[in-house]
Amino acid sequence: MAPPGNVPIMSDAPPTPSEAFDLLLSGNRRFVAGTPEHPNQDAVRRAETAPEQSPFAVLFGCSDSRLAAEIIFDRGLGDLFVVRTAGHVAGSEVLGSIEYAVSILKAPLVVVLGHDSCGAVAATRAALTDGLGTNSFVRDVIERVTPSVLAAKAAGLTENDDIIDEHIRHTVDLLVDRSRLLAEKIEAGETAVAGLSYHLADGNARVVTTRGLN
Ligand SMILES: [Zn+2]
Repeated sequence: MAPPGNVPIMSDAPPTPSEAFDLLLSGNRRFVAGTPEHPNQDAVRRAETAPEQSPFAVLFGCSDSRLAAEIIFDRGLGDLFVVRTAGHVAGSEVLGSIEYAVSILKAPLVVVLGHDSCGAVAATRAALTDGLGTNSFVRDVIERVTPSVLAAKAAGLTENDDIIDEHIRHTVDLLVDRSRLLAEKIEAGETAVAGLSYHLADGNARVVTTRGLN
């Protein structure tokens, strides 16, 4: 018998957006509690998913090495379609990857995952204070985080966690504003988007904002 955390693949009834959100958050609760089930990580699942994938969520998160998606949400093969960039900055390739998962793979949930002590946000704050000190492509990451940091500043936010929450909200807004496909999926109730903030020390993923979830 499959462990309770397993999501059946090629099911007749894929999870709804809110069921997918519950699945994701329950995995994070197991991880926080130190009681992971490691679902869908065996040879049976590998064989099952080889011909076809139907991930129940797109995980678009920061590349930070401590945000390993399948570990912190206690999931396995075929569960999460993962897209990660430093500071979860989104350009056209990211939008295209998310749209692919939502439209072709019919993923019912998109999660933006930020975290405390994010280096990309810290680098952006430093650049705004001291000037951009780089001609490398790091500059591109900083430029994409800058609108969030400026908006947080305009709102009078000074705490790191509040600025990171603002960046997570901005990223969710950007995805929905720029991707007509995603906006239509939300409108149709087929996909939801959630912004979560991950706490490095305790492993908890806190809900910052949602679109299309009650
Ligand atoms: Zn980060």
